[in-house]
Amino acid sequence: MNKQIYDFDFPELSARVNSWGVPKYRAQQVWDGLYKNLWLAPEEFTNLSKELRGKMGELVEFNVLKPVDYRESKDGETLKTLFELHDGQHIETVLMKYDTEGRQPRRTVCISTQVGCGMGCTFCATGQMGFKRQLSSGEIVAQVIYFARKLQDAGETLTNVVVMGMGEPLHNYAATMEAIDRLNNPDGFAFGARRFTISTVGLVPLIKRFADEKRQVNLAISLHAAEDELRSSMLPINEKYPISNLLEVCRYYVEQTHRRITFEWALIEGVNDTPEQAHILARRVKGLLCHVNAIPLNPTQGFNGKGTGSERAKIFKETLEQAGVTCTIRAHRGIDIQAGCGQLASREK
Ligand code: SF4
Repeated sequence: MNKQIYDFDFPELSARVNSWGVPKYRAQQVWDGLYKNLWLAPEEFTNLSKELRGKMGELVEFNVLKPVDYRESKDGETLKTLFELHDGQHIETVLMKYDTEGRQPRRTVCISTQVGCGMGCTFCATGQMGFKRQLSSGEIVAQVIYFARKLQDAGETLTNVVVMGMGEPLHNYAATMEAIDRLNNPDGFAFGARRFTISTVGLVPLIKRFADEKRQVNLAISLHAAEDELRSSMLPINEKYPISNLLEVCRYYVEQTHRRITFEWALIEGVNDTPEQAHILARRVKGLLCHVNAIPLNPTQGFNGKGTGSERAKIFKETLEQAGVTCTIRAHRGIDIQAGCGQLASREK
């Protein structure tokens, strides 16, 4: 198969285009078409000759993602697309719209970094699929460009990218960072580093590497429990990197970057939503620059736990805040379209 178009960084793209015997400035035109105009197919590159468009279509693969299923929630705020990849594997990408009066509309795309996932979190449909393969940097980039273009066609703008879809992004570290760097390139898509958030289940050595690189990308940790026994029962990776190691590297990250860390907490009724859990969490993160993002769990087939109701969620938040830890309760989204991570892809499988 030809190399996929979004797998090239600018020097590689220049070398490839120059090898076709065309003037050097053509590479810049292709790059601008891809990342400034968001052109998706060779026919759209009207700044190139017909001959060159044809050559480009023959020699480079443009159909990186083939949309095969598409769901929109009843409220129109969550759109989920199931994509087929060149080898017949499937991934999901979700667009979430947030419109709050008096604030700029937010358009956030949640992207995948792997087909399936090897981390085996018990409440997650992707985890139940197991690990299939890594995505290339181009397959990660393509998801963002696809939705950026959709929004552009609707007169809207992408504002945030969260790396929280299928897969553990730090388990595909190189491709994930390459994708972010390509999208962040000021001479291209120019999407600010601070508008990305990477969410990890807690791969301690790679969080350390991420901290050492002093990236301006936001970091979120899927914590979900403040005691090892409970966390290990939900996130098997906790056996390898227990909470004390994880919080130690979180402190290191904050020291290195001076950036606030977010702890994700999927509220599961009667499991991790008790005031006692909130107290333990507050004690463990004392003094750490952090914020807790709690979301009632999306129902997942194959997992019995139920998302916490609003009253219990409120008490959890208040308990944390009284103990000095800021917390936001987010509404879970897109239940009617199976918007939880991996739900559509595992159904397809
Ligand atoms: S929650 Fe994330 S890390 Fe855990 S199994 Fe699902 S995709 Fe993988």
